[in-house]
Amino acid sequence: MKAVSFEGKHKMSVANHPTPKLKSPTDAILRVTTTGICGSDLHTYDGRTPLEKGTVVGHEIMGVIEQVGEAVQSIKKGDRVVLPFNISCGFCFNCHRGHTEACLTMNPEAPHAAYGYAGMGPYQGGQAEFVLVPYADFNCLKLPGKPGDEWEDDFLLLSDVFPTGYHAAELACVAPGKTVAIFGAGPVGLLAAYSSLLKGASEVYVVDSIPERLEKVKEIGATPVDFSQGDPVEQIFALRKKIKGIQQAHRPGEEKAEGVDCAIDAVGYQARDNDDPDREKATQVLENVVKVVNATGSVGIIGVYIAPDPGAKGEDAKKGVYPFPIADFFDKGLTMGSGQAPVKKYNEYLRDLIVTGKAKPSKIVSHRIEIDDAPYAYKKFDQRIDGYTKVLIKFTEKRAA
Ligand code: NAD
Ligand code: ZN
Repeated sequence: MKAVSFEGKHKMSVANHPTPKLKSPTDAILRVTTTGICGSDLHTYDGRTPLEKGTVVGHEIMGVIEQVGEAVQSIKKGDRVVLPFNISCGFCFNCHRGHTEACLTMNPEAPHAAYGYAGMGPYQGGQAEFVLVPYADFNCLKLPGKPGDEWEDDFLLLSDVFPTGYHAAELACVAPGKTVAIFGAGPVGLLAAYSSLLKGASEVYVVDSIPERLEKVKEIGATPVDFSQGDPVEQIFALRKKIKGIQQAHRPGEEKAEGVDCAIDAVGYQARDNDDPDREKATQVLENVVKVVNATGSVGIIGVYIAPDPGAKGEDAKKGVYPFPIADFFDKGLTMGSGQAPVKKYNEYLRDLIVTGKAKPSKIVSHRIEIDDAPYAYKKFDQRIDGYTKVLIKFTEKRAA
């Protein structure tokens, strides 16, 4: 089968790989119809989370079941399904309490597993014609409709970035009427903004510097803030002051609460320095989120911070140790949540918002390509140029295992 594999820094290749075979009676083989390239794959592409050469990449996967092991009960050949990027067993201490992002049995190295990702277990990725699905009963979310229909791209986003964006909003305690600042208008930031609006937020600001992405912010109904035009936190304070209702409804001290209730870091450790965007500054967004929230507010860190990081400058940074404004954080009495998204906690509910026409996350998709064009798309997406915001790889022709 054809698949995209990691061959070294800035080198993804499309090559022939062995088609996966069932390993356990609880497995299934999925014929992939659509698979996404994620911002997380770029950490690998940049050599920051290197994989063994030849590993098939990709953790955003949907398709049609080709074959099931004899112990699989609820999934059968021909079912249309999407997979959470987290691989989970369903029966360990964490999965059993709903924390499928922290499965304790699928990866001997760490308490989490995923398809085709460094440090996430021995699993091949899904930017491929076929993929092996462990514990198919637990990991497959069944989908209505037919491959290639009007929901295909929306459903693909249920594998990662839509539930991840929603989880970011949960971590930041977004609720009806609350005000929200999001850093990063990549797929995760855009869908965190979209989820915040679905949850009824009253104001949603999204910070980035890439024109096409700031345009998407407007399209989904949030307010873009361009950090190349000056300190984004000061810009948000200024924008908030212009809101008429706020000008007219002062409580004592409200004038000091110029920030927002909730902030989301959808950038992570490869953040650009606001003063010099050609430079990386891993703590840039951490500093901004603490500054932009009002006292008693909440922060969600969904952008990743990873160690070891061979690309970091300095010994502490290589170990993932960074300075953090803990005194301001404490002084303001802030709450913070972080970590990988438990996709299974949300994917079924978000699917039903799609099916009933209440959510259309595929608005953020910019490119639909064939697998042979994946190396070129990685390059463009990594450079964040030419409007490459969210790339989906499509398999259309009929294939057999
Ligand atoms: P992405 O990496 O393309 O998006 C990041 C965006 O941040 C870019 O548009 C970039 O221009 C912008 N940016 C850079 N520096 C900035 C700054 N200082 N202020 C504001 N914006 C800045 O792609 P993505 O897919 O949206 O991923 C975002 C992050 O979320 C990545 O770190 C990714 O690994 C992570 N992620 C986490 C989970 C999870 O479960 N926690 C799941 C998926 C992705
Ligand atoms: Zn992802």
